[in-house]
Amino acid sequence: MTSIAAQNLPRHTRIVATLGPATDPPDVLEAILRAGVDVVRLNFSHGDPAAQVARGEAVRRMAAKIGREVGVLADLPGPKIRIETFAEGKVALKSGHRFDLVASLDVPPGDASQVGVSYLELPGDVTAGDVLLLDDGMVQLQVEAVEGERILTRVLNDGVLSNRKGLNKQGGGLSLGAITERDRELIAIAAGMDVDFIAVSFCRNADDMHEARRVARAHGCKAALVAKIERAEAIVHLAEIIDASDVVMVARGDLGVETGDAELPGLQKKIIREAVAREKVVITATQMLQSMVESPMPTRAEVLDVANAVIDGTDAVMLSQESAAGSWPVRAVETMARICVGAEKQFEADTNFEQARRGLERADQAIAMATMFLSEHIGVRAVVAMTESGGTARYLSRFRSSVPIYAFSHHAGARRRMALMRDVFAMDYDSRGQTPREAARGSIHLLVEAGLLAPGDRVIFTSGEHMQTRGATNTLRLLEIDADGCAAGLGEL
Ligand code: PGA
Ligand code: MN
Repeated sequence: MTSIAAQNLPRHTRIVATLGPATDPPDVLEAILRAGVDVVRLNFSHGDPAAQVARGEAVRRMAAKIGREVGVLADLPGPKIRIETFAEGKVALKSGHRFDLVASLDVPPGDASQVGVSYLELPGDVTAGDVLLLDDGMVQLQVEAVEGERILTRVLNDGVLSNRKGLNKQGGGLSLGAITERDRELIAIAAGMDVDFIAVSFCRNADDMHEARRVARAHGCKAALVAKIERAEAIVHLAEIIDASDVVMVARGDLGVETGDAELPGLQKKIIREAVAREKVVITATQMLQSMVESPMPTRAEVLDVANAVIDGTDAVMLSQESAAGSWPVRAVETMARICVGAEKQFEADTNFEQARRGLERADQAIAMATMFLSEHIGVRAVVAMTESGGTARYLSRFRSSVPIYAFSHHAGARRRMALMRDVFAMDYDSRGQTPREAARGSIHLLVEAGLLAPGDRVIFTSGEHMQTRGATNTLRLLEIDADGCAAGLGEL
């Protein structure tokens, strides 16, 4: 018997929404959080940092007001190479015309013949024949020659180019390091805000992630580290990057520019598969509902795209401009939530334990595997996990079994990091001074009171013997909810 009304099934895929001018009005912020945003992204590539800090604070206040826990992700700009500005703010480029990039700090504002680039090494990173992609490929330039600080190019397509658009080289290979001086300053700011996630843009390898983590930890910041996979080089080092990160993002905008858009479907599936197999969390990002920047309705292709990411097994899907600068931020979140729930019904849980990892290294990992194996084979309504840091929840949710995982932690930071994990519903519970048995009764009682479990439901409960210790989960118990709404030991299966 179930207490969850069929029409009110909770969503298991998480939603990340980028904040911006469109979400600044408090009523809009409140509405997007109520509509189901689990994690907000502050994009430090845009606007001044103080504006992003203010947004982070507004989110914390609003989340407290409406009684939800919302994760905050600070997205570092990274070494994105950008053109400088134009005298008129933008120019219209014509296919076949010459257009020069000038890598110098004192170039006058640009015009239809040239524009500045502040990345001074650019002339050394390109040669005649290279194709440069501006504004995520909206404008393409072919390099004809490099003369000192000046890169002479030919415009390959008509297009409008505006201030500070990004610049990539087709095929990748621009040599910039991932953690810039600017990023270091911003990590300090993010640490001061106590953000839950820090995203590293354009990371190339595991060392970039280790370096970002070192800088964050040096500032006393416990945030989870997100590797944005958006460079051709990052694909080559994918496994080591995933191992060095807590979360990875399929950053389809820049990745598609570097590798060509036709590679994206395969890469998205590969990155999601690898991340889940390596027991890490994965976000699928960029242009998921792009037409909703202007339109109140998604295209059918966008519906399918969001749904396919869910079916590919992503933990979270992300809104960028749709929420930050679009005309329909609330609708975009509602639309995403609705599509996720629909797609989850079609998701075929991967319960092939033949493929499951054999080289187990940790007790909590082993308990998680045993739990999910049993949950498939004896049929349970939920898994209930006592988890100090969220580690057990992460291991449990890597099995993508679609059974809800109610994860109880007394640490708000851990709960907000769990806000990104598929199938996980993090809740507050103070088990200090309790035996595992008392904690099971207490937490399950809360779930019954909330209408999430009912008498007759079977659950698997995991905990450690010493519950306040990180990574100490070492037991699982099979329980059935009795008529009083308490957990009783399950005898017959
Ligand atoms: P961005 O990253 O929005 O910061 O560019 C995501 C992407 O490139 O897809
Ligand atoms: Mn990007």
